[in-house]
Amino acid sequence: MQNDKLICCKCNVALEPRNTDLSYMGYHFNATLPRCPVCGLVYIDEELATGKIAQVEMQLEDK
Ligand SMILES: [Zn+2]
Repeated sequence: MQNDKLICCKCNVALEPRNTDLSYMGYHFNATLPRCPVCGLVYIDEELATGKIAQVEMQLEDK
């Protein structure tokens, strides 16, 4: 019964959406990501991360 609730595999608690500063593949951006309230683990959805990078790249090209 896995829907969109993500569970920290270490702490076994539900991840909470948090606004998080990220660096991923050399890009820095800010996104709301599921984060473990206990250990601080951030779950990075690869699709989301890739989409954000595409946005950042477009912004860079605009300048
Ligand atoms: Zn945890």
